[in-house]
Order: sequence, then C-alpha cells, then structure tokens
Amino acid sequence: MSRTQETIVSVIPFAGFEKELDYRVPSHMEGRVRVGSLVRVPIRNRQSLGIVAATEGSSGMPVRRLKCLTQLIHDEAVLTGELVALVRWMRDYYAAPAEAILETMIPAAVRRGMKGKEEKYLVAARSMPAGELENLRTKAPRQAALYEFLSQQFQPLKKSLVLKRTGVAAASCRALVEQGWVAEEARRLDREAYRDDLGGGEAVEVIPPELNVEQLAAAGEMIATLKKEVFRVHLLQGVTGSGKTEVYIKVLQEALAAGGGAIFLVPEVALAPQTVGRLRGRLERESGVKTVVWHSHLSEGERFDAWTAVVRGEARLVVGARSAVFAPMPDLRLIVVDEEHEPAYKQEEVPRYHGRDVAVYRAFLNRAVCVLGSATPSMESLRNVSSGKYAVNRLSRRVDDRRLPMIHVVDMTREILSKRGALGLSRPLADKMIDRFEKREQTILFINRRGFSSSVLCPECGHVCECEHCSISLTYHRSDETIKCHLCGHQEKAPRQCPECKSVKIRWKGFGTQRVEDAAKGLLPRARIERMDTDAMSKKNRFREILNDFRLGKIDILVGTQMIAKGLDFPNVTLVGLIDADLSLHIPDFRANERTFQLLVQVSGRSGRGDRAGEVVVQTFTPHAGTIHYARREDFEGFIEEEMEARRSFQYPPFRHLIHHLMHGSNPEKLSFYAERWVRLLEEKFDGDIEIRGPCPAPLEKIKDRYRYQVWYFTKNVSRTVPRLQALRQEFPWPDDMVQVLDVDAVNLT
Ligand code: ADP
Ligand code: ZN
Ligand code: ZN
Repeated sequence: MSRTQETIVSVIPFAGFEKELDYRVPSHMEGRVRVGSLVRVPIRNRQSLGIVAATEGSSGMPVRRLKCLTQLIHDEAVLTGELVALVRWMRDYYAAPAEAILETMIPAAVRRGMKGKEEKYLVAARSMPAGELENLRTKAPRQAALYEFLSQQFQPLKKSLVLKRTGVAAASCRALVEQGWVAEEARRLDREAYRDDLGGGEAVEVIPPELNVEQLAAAGEMIATLKKEVFRVHLLQGVTGSGKTEVYIKVLQEALAAGGGAIFLVPEVALAPQTVGRLRGRLERESGVKTVVWHSHLSEGERFDAWTAVVRGEARLVVGARSAVFAPMPDLRLIVVDEEHEPAYKQEEVPRYHGRDVAVYRAFLNRAVCVLGSATPSMESLRNVSSGKYAVNRLSRRVDDRRLPMIHVVDMTREILSKRGALGLSRPLADKMIDRFEKREQTILFINRRGFSSSVLCPECGHVCECEHCSISLTYHRSDETIKCHLCGHQEKAPRQCPECKSVKIRWKGFGTQRVEDAAKGLLPRARIERMDTDAMSKKNRFREILNDFRLGKIDILVGTQMIAKGLDFPNVTLVGLIDADLSLHIPDFRANERTFQLLVQVSGRSGRGDRAGEVVVQTFTPHAGTIHYARREDFEGFIEEEMEARRSFQYPPFRHLIHHLMHGSNPEKLSFYAERWVRLLEEKFDGDIEIRGPCPAPLEKIKDRYRYQVWYFTKNVSRTVPRLQALRQEFPWPDDMVQVLDVDAVNLT
C-alpha cells in the first residue's frame, strides 16, 4: 500500500509532562483514529498511554522523523472532542497534570484496555522487505504463510478465522506479533448484554405532581434556553421543600425527549438515595431512558459497563458525584448541579477541580444548559447572577405552604455556667428529646465537624479572638502560649483573661460526635441511638443500613456530622438539635459565616417535612451573631447582602479568585526559608499584579510529621496568573524533600 499523505496526530501522553507529541498513524489504523482515541505510543524507550488531541500535527516536525502509534486501544473514542478541550482547560486553569486529569476522566478498566465480550483481530502491521520474507520462508514457513495471507487483506480479520483458514498455530502467530510484523487487536462485539442494573438507587414510583406557578415559570425559562441550543447557566434558588427536584425533572425530560444526554450531579450519591430513586423512577421507568448511577462503590466491571453504555449513547442520563461531570456523553444538552454550594464538589486531591465550575465550563464547551440548584447558593454563584452572567429562577414558597420550623436559640454561655450543658446537651434540648422519645417521634443531632477546637473562645461571653487584619479567628498554640493568624502571620500572647468580660475561663474545646452520643445515651438509656460520621462509616454499606433503619423507625435518635444534613427527607423527624452552631464561625476561613448559614438552613429543612411541624434547637455561644439571626428568620437577602459586603471590603472571593499554595516538608526551618525566598521572587516578578499573603504556617501546622506552610494569592484573572506561577515554580530550586501544591479556587484552607 502506498500513500501520498500520511496522517499525523497530536497526542497528550500519560507520561508526567505537559507537552503534546506528534505521531504517525500506521496504515492498519488509518481511518479509525480520531480525537479522543486512547492509544499507546512510544516515548523514548517506553510505551505510554495517550489521548489523541488533534488529527493534525502541532510540532512541525518532518514526517519521517515521527514515530508511529503503537496501538489503538479501543475502537470507540474514549473522550468526546469537548472533553479533550476540557482536559486542556483544566490543565491550564487548575495547574493540574494532564495525566492526572485523564486518569480521573477515564476509568482504570478502560485504560487497561478491558473489553466486554471481545474478539481478537489480526492485521499486517508493516511491510516485510523481500529478503526478509525469503528468509522467513525457509526458517519458519508457517509464519511466512500467515504473514503473506494477512498482507493481502485490506482490513483486519478475526484471528480465529485466520488461524483456521491458514492452519497456522497460535504460537507462530504470536512470534509474528512479537516481532512487530503483525498487529493483534481486541475489538468489542457490537451487540452484547450489559448488566441490567447500572448501579444503585432503586427506582421509586411517584405520582408526578402538578407543577405550581413558580415551578412552571422556572422550568419554562430553562426549557426555552434548552431549545435555543445555546450555553446558559440558570441558578435555581429555592428554599428547601420548594420543589426544585420537580423542576429538574421537567427540564431533564425535555432534554432527553429531544434525543440529547444529561448529567445530574449530587454532592454524594450515598446521601442522596431519595433523589436518585426519584430520578430513576420518573426518567427511567416512565420515559424509558436508560440511566447510569455513577458512584464510588461500583465494581470495576459495573463501572466499565456503565461507561460503555454512555459512550455508545445507550444510557443518556448519568447521575453521580463530581466525577460524573466527565461522563463521555456524545450529545450533552444539560447538566444539573444539585446543592451547588456544597464543598463536596471540590476535589481535595490532584487534580484539584471544582465539580460545579467544571460543569459550567463543560456546558460552555458543549453549548449546553447548566442548572445550578440550591436553597443557599454559594456567594460565587450569587455574584455571577448579580453581574448578569447567570440567569436566576426563584422558588420562594414551600410546596405545601408548610410553616418554617420553630427555631430556638440556646445561649450556651449560660448553660455552661450552670454546669448543665457540660455534656453537650442543653436543658431545653434535653427536655425536647425526652418529649419526642415519649411521643415516638424522631430526633437528629448535628455536630459541626468543620469546627476547630483551637480557636480561643470565652465560654462566658462568647468572645472570639480574631485577627485585626484578616477577620478570621486566631488559632491557639500551646507550645509558646500564643495566638496566631494563619493568613498574615500576626501573633500575640494568648490572653489569660477574656478581653471582653475578664473571665479566666477563656478556652474551650468542642464536642465530638462520640461525646454527644454518650450524652444522649445517658439521657435516654432506652432509646435506640445511632451515630453517623466518617469514623463510624468505614464499613461500606453501613450508611444505607442506618438510613434505612432510621426511615423504618428502628432508630430514635441519629447523631452525626453535617454530612447527614443534606437531602434527607424523614417525615417523622420533628426535632433537630444543632449542638455547636458557632464553631464554624470561628475557624480560620473567610467562608465560615456562609457555611454556618447554609448549615443552619439545611438543618432546619430537615425538621417536620411531613405533616407535623418541626422544631430546631440551636446551641451557641454567640446567640447574637448575625448569621444565626438571619438563618432563624430565613432572611436570605439580609444575610447575602451583609456577607457580600464583607467579602467586597476584603476583596475575598467571589470578588477575586483565591489560589492556595501549600508546601510541606520535614524540616520546618528549611520550609520557612524556601517559602520566604519563593514569596520574595514572586513579589519581584509579579510586581503588584496579584496580592500575596504569607508565607505562614498552615492552620494544621503538622500532619504526619510533615510541617506545612501556606501562601495565598488573590487574583482577578486565573488564566493569566496560573501559567506565570507555573513557569516560576518550574524554575525555582525547591529542595528535594519539599512538596508543594497549588489549589486554584481553594475551598479547604486548612
Ligand atoms: P426541594 O428539592 O426543593 O427540597 P423537592 O423537589 O424535594 O424540594 O419537593 C419536596 C416535596 O414536594 C417532594 O415530596 C415532592 O414530590 C413534592 N412536590 C414538589 N412539587 C410539588 C407540587 N407542585 N405539588 C405537590 N407536591 C410537590
Ligand atoms: Zn468573655
Ligand atoms: Zn491576619
């Protein structure tokens, strides 16, 4: 076969560097390699996986100097063209290695070349010089016969067939493959039985309700956008129980009916069994759209089948946690991000992306609609609404016009004084728990784990020591009796008396879930109590079991961290206690108020969702804090206005982007020396373009004997800042034992 024009492709290799490389497409792969194909390529003396990023070269190297692709791993492209563009964007925006992004996007089984039911195919890979062939004929006539047979074919043939036809043994064939004369490829059979249940979330049958006026208006606007086939983000802001899920379903039905695909993201699949069940019930059972539930407990085979069904356009709805945003849906029309404010959307390991933001960018690439829904939207999304980037649709009323639960605020400074609250349960909360137990109604107790016990808080007046420069709480350091700011480094002597009320009791430790569980057992020895937190949840199905038992009424009191605050709907829960409402107000995080507000609203949404009215008891040392008041009145506007103003005055996100740079090493002096030196270099190079804060010890100063330092960068323009930071980082002489990580749009600042 001769060819005038050889095809060159540009490949993103999985090889630990960021350059894209050009390769020649060998003739037997001609016509089958496209953008998004998974291939194997030679790099120096190794073979590496890679993704075809473009079907033209980018290096300008002369063709004859290019190497050939070694193998095409799957016949289907494993990424859509938009996903390839997304890889490049994430690489540049999040300063993440392309390899790590690709590994997140493509399941391990797919990367390893797993096939469903497969058939091996043979093809002559390169032409054998005449002399060589002559030689082979005498030395290994069977091999020669096989090679000659294959070289006369125009396309790959089934191996079983070829061997039968030529009467050649498999061993002879293997020898040819090993020497590279013949290529053997596995191809999936076209029709095959998938496992039927594509993972989790039982379909629940529900009678679809008539949408109310607000729901219709919201869905109507989204559908109008959908029909225009343009990129647009809609923020669906609706109080808990206002029927957001019904709006999602309406819009999903529309997208699916038009033949497109959709992705529905939830913060954590295990915590959203009801939502998943409803989606499957309505969209799979009713509309007959095959649905994939993408979660971390899928076995490798299930994950592979789910992925295959999506790639082939057979499953057009994917429901899952953040990584489901990468589902290789061929014709993606709609992405829904439920509870868009949830920090769980941020991946805290490389690649450190934000699932919501990636969803928005992917929708942009696909010219799709992105719906972000929440009762308490993030400041970032609200700002995008006020700047006109996002459309907003509001649901202001609960579907059944149920009253808000009654919120009682308990002043823990008084409780501590009177010693009753020593166990973590205040008298008012304890009394109500006893009452519910007697009435056979259920109680949930929340402990706020985001809190730190190292803030300096006065148990008598609620005073918290804050940094005058950064408006975050100072952290107590026992070693030298100081309180320090983890942002600017400001430090002072730890007070022996409260600066406000002169109390000497100024230091206080938080309550753990265990302590609260014990306290509840002490109070109600006959009650059935279960605890749900990450420690207790190491067993895989424990989650679902406990939630099921709770729903069936086998548990009276559920104790847990805020992870149980989301999306659960238990009609028999009439009391919710929030044990330590203010800890998150005092962690060194400028989002503390926002988190606390969100938590309070979520928690109250959990009480009295049935026909009974609910009550919420909020225990706090700062009963007069604005956040608690706003939450109590469900005064979203008031809260948002005040919080936005505070963010604006400090130019915190969403007014600028925050890039968090964490460095760790075993030697604290060396760490601080290099951190200082790095910051001096930046100050020189950036010349006021970005604001740099630090270096300072991170709030968690040491983890596993590694000392941690952090630097914060504030910038208006991430795409301009990150490449410059990256370039400088590459040149800087970091010592070997020092590891440093950039976290763009960081959420966790510890
Ligand atoms: P959200 O997601 O905003 O918290 P949901 O969509 O879960 O609210 O709705 C809460 C409950 O109200 C669900 O049981 C749902 O079936 C029901 N519901 C939703 N919309 C309506 C409606 N228009 N009429 C009656 N019931 C509705
Ligand atoms: Zn005090
Ligand atoms: Zn400070």
